Amino acid sequence: MLYLVEDFYSIQGEGKFAGTPSIFLRFGGCNLRCPGFGEHFVKDKIARGCDSIHAVSRELFGAEWRGVTLEDLKGIVEDHIEHLDFKPHIVITGGEPLIYWNDPTFSSFIEYLVEEEFIVTVETNGTIEIDFDSYPAYRALIYALAVKLSNSGEPYEKRINRKAIRKIVEGGAYTFFKFTLSKNLIDFRADEEIFDIVAPYPDLEVFCMPLGERVEELRKHDRAVAHFCMIHGFIYSDRLQVRLWNRERRR
Ligand code: SF4
Repeated sequence: MLYLVEDFYSIQGEGKFAGTPSIFLRFGGCNLRCPGFGEHFVKDKIARGCDSIHAVSRELFGAEWRGVTLEDLKGIVEDHIEHLDFKPHIVITGGEPLIYWNDPTFSSFIEYLVEEEFIVTVETNGTIEIDFDSYPAYRALIYALAVKLSNSGEPYEKRINRKAIRKIVEGGAYTFFKFTLSKNLIDFRADEEIFDIVAPYPDLEVFCMPLGERVEELRKHDRAVAHFCMIHGFIYSDRLQVRLWNRERRR
């Protein structure tokens, strides 16, 4: 079963396409847990992990996830674009949406989006290997590779899959890296960790953004991240959804 956590129309807040009107489709489930990202108060529950923990923890939030069919997904997209006279970007996110990459409903939906000529970005942790030859529609997608660093709390061998990254870089239409940094990690070895991941791909853009799901938290880290980018030649990415709407959900 393919689980959708939420869908909403907003602007992309992060990375290469920041500011672009986009329909977000957030799928439930992830192959990682990222306990290093701390505790969050979500929907009256305390959960440990990333700021998308409501899309990761099936135990805590699974009752709110919705099993969807291909027709459901097409209908959701059609509803969002009904009053628009242009095609917004589509952002496929999670959790880790590529856990469904060979699910018949998910892969058919990707084929539909490609046939309809939507520009689609998949936000992924880069740990899952896609078979681009058997599923060629995936070649038309953009991949935001949000590979996890040690601040995620996940062990190296779980959060870094070099073969999966290579397949995505070579198979996708366009790929960029996106890292979330805290002041603490910068003080230690973020540059070493990032170069270890991106060195084989000198042509790919590397975006770094500050940790934080509240404006006050972003402010603790943003200048350090900007400085870090200036030193190492990375691209600073803000988190516009946090600046504009703070902790408001579905934004
Ligand atoms: S990989 Fe991403 S979605 Fe999954 S737990 Fe880590 S931060 Fe959350």
